[in-house]
Amino acid sequence: MMAEGYLALVKSEPADDSRDGDEAMRSTMPAAPSPGHDLSQTPTPVDRWRCRRDGAADWSVPPVRTVVVAPHPDDEVLMFAGLIAHQVDAGANVLILAVTDGEAAYPDVPPSVLGERRRGEQLAAVEAMGDGRIDIVRLGLPDGGVEEHSTALAGAIQDVRSPGCIIAAPWHLDHHCDHEAIGRAALDVALRSGDRLVQGIFWGWHHRSPTDLEQPLRRLRLSTETMKRRQTALNCHRSQVGAGHRSPVLDASALEPLAWPFEYHIVLPTQREEQA
Ligand SMILES: [Zn+2]
Repeated sequence: MMAEGYLALVKSEPADDSRDGDEAMRSTMPAAPSPGHDLSQTPTPVDRWRCRRDGAADWSVPPVRTVVVAPHPDDEVLMFAGLIAHQVDAGANVLILAVTDGEAAYPDVPPSVLGERRRGEQLAAVEAMGDGRIDIVRLGLPDGGVEEHSTALAGAIQDVRSPGCIIAAPWHLDHHCDHEAIGRAALDVALRSGDRLVQGIFWGWHHRSPTDLEQPLRRLRLSTETMKRRQTALNCHRSQVGAGHRSPVLDASALEPLAWPFEYHIVLPTQREEQA
């Protein structure tokens, strides 16, 4: 029964926890907060994840259509560049579902200006990863306010998925309110569709404990060429990696996990596997 399975468990458990977490995060926000990047809590060293990373088994990725749900422009690179490169090289169709334009990343930049800039950066990054072979569907939901549109979001994921596809989305405990809302919506769709759900981690490396992770990590080895490709794509997100802002969101500390020669995912069992 699905109600007893892991997918049902993670769907039902984090909802209240995450809501509490969001409220807790909001209570720590500075006086003029950016709703999209409520990451003011002091990060913890990513090295404490070493025990979980060392125990990660290799993941042999099936070359099937893959839908990558990206909360903000840059997340498709930060969490899934290796997976995307693998699928593109294998000839599998990749679609990026771009949920927000990331227009709230910097409170001192007008959202319309930043949103337009980041849409362009994401297009360039996707081009760098896929050489014209990756599709983008853009939802334009509000940066920092995805939770309020969770039903529409789940419907959009449902609309772009197809039988047998992989859905790649953030871990439902990835600390940022938009990441977690999208993680929950993707879980909801995977529960109903039976699709393979693959969760990525970014802010969770810095703000969650390894004990929060109930499933083992799986790893995808990145070739030198893939790591270069990812760096090229990341550099396209100039507004986030330093160019033009005195306090970039993606500073050297935040990007530390990108030095690892593996991309780590949580590969959840499908409904069929849970019932076997
Ligand atoms: Zn993000």
